[in-house]
Amino acid sequence: MNLDSIKQVGVVGAGTMGNGIAHVFARAGYDVVLRDVEQRFLDRALAAIDKNLDREIKRGKLPESEKPAVLARLHLTTQLDALASAQLVVEAVPEQPAIKREILGELDRLLGDTALLASNTSSISITELGVASGRPDRFAGMHFMNPVPVMTLVEVIRGIATSDDTFATIMGLCERLGKKPVAVNDAPGFVSNRVLMPMINEAVYTVLEGVATVDAVDSVMKMGMNHPLGPLELGDLIGLDVCLDIMEVLHRDLGDSKYRPCPLLRKMVAAGWLGRKTGRGFYVYEGGTAAPNPAVRAAGA
Ligand code: NAD
Repeated sequence: MNLDSIKQVGVVGAGTMGNGIAHVFARAGYDVVLRDVEQRFLDRALAAIDKNLDREIKRGKLPESEKPAVLARLHLTTQLDALASAQLVVEAVPEQPAIKREILGELDRLLGDTALLASNTSSISITELGVASGRPDRFAGMHFMNPVPVMTLVEVIRGIATSDDTFATIMGLCERLGKKPVAVNDAPGFVSNRVLMPMINEAVYTVLEGVATVDAVDSVMKMGMNHPLGPLELGDLIGLDVCLDIMEVLHRDLGDSKYRPCPLLRKMVAAGWLGRKTGRGFYVYEGGTAAPNPAVRAAGA
C-alpha cells in the first residue's frame, strides 16, 4: 500500500490510546472511523478528544478555526462494518491476546485485500498477531506512547513476515502524523516496555516491602533520575491493568522469574483500582488533584 493511497483510517478501541490515535490521524487530515463496543465508550472518547484539542489550541499548537474540521473528520461507531473501506486499521483494544486475535480475524474478513493492519500492542508478539490478522505481510506494530497527542515517539515494530513495503509505509505515515518513528524488531515488550515495565513493577515491590511510601518512591525517581513522572504516577497514567497485562506477557514469553508481576500490582487490579481512568490507583484523583491512596500502605503491609 502506497503512503498516498491512505485516506481513511480505522481505529478499533476508543480507550486511553484509541482516542489519542484517532485524534492525531484526524488532526493530520485523515478521515477516521473510531469503533468501540458501546456508545458510552465513544462518548467518553469524544469528550477526551474535544478537551485535548482545546488544550492544543490553548498552547498555540492548533488554530482554533481548524477544530471543527478535525472533529468533522471523526466518525464514531459501534459497527465494525463501518471500517470496511479503510486503507489502514489500527487496533487498540485491551492487551489480551485472545481479544486481539479475534478482532484482527474479523477485520481481515472485512477489509480490502491491500489494506494494512497495525496493532498498538505494548508487548504481544507482532509476528503472532500478524498470523491472526490473516495478512502477516501487511501487518506491523504501531506503538504510540501515552498521551498520544503529546508524545512524539512511535515504536514501529516489524514482525518476521512484515513486508519492506508495509514497514516503509507505516514509518512514513508516522512522519505525516508529525511523530518520530523508531524501528524495532519483534520481541516481548519491544524496547519501551521491556525496560519501562520492570521498573514500574519494581517500584510496586518497594512499596509492598515497605522500603518507602508511594510518594517517596516517586520523589526519588523524579528528583534523583530527572524523570518527569515517578514510576507509580506513570503506572496510574498508563493503567495498572495494562501494566499487569504487559508484565504477564514478559514473564510468560521471556520465561524469566525476574519479570514476575508484583502481588500488590495484582491486588490493585483485582480491587478495580486501575489508576487515573478509575479515579484511584497508587494515588486518588479527585477534583483535579492527586493524593497518595491511603489504603495502599495497608494493602502492602
Ligand atoms: P483501554 O482499556 O483504555 O481501552 C480499550 C478499549 O477497547 C475499551 O474502550 C474497550 O471497550 C475497547 N474494546 C474492547 N473490545 C473491543 C472490540 N472488540 N472492538 C472495539 N473496541 C473494543 O486500553 P488502552 O490503555 O487504550 O490500551 C489499548 C492498547 O494500547 C493495549 O494493547 C495497550 O497495551 C496499548 N498501549 C497502552 C498504553 C497506555 O499507556 N495505556 C500505551 C501504549 C500502548
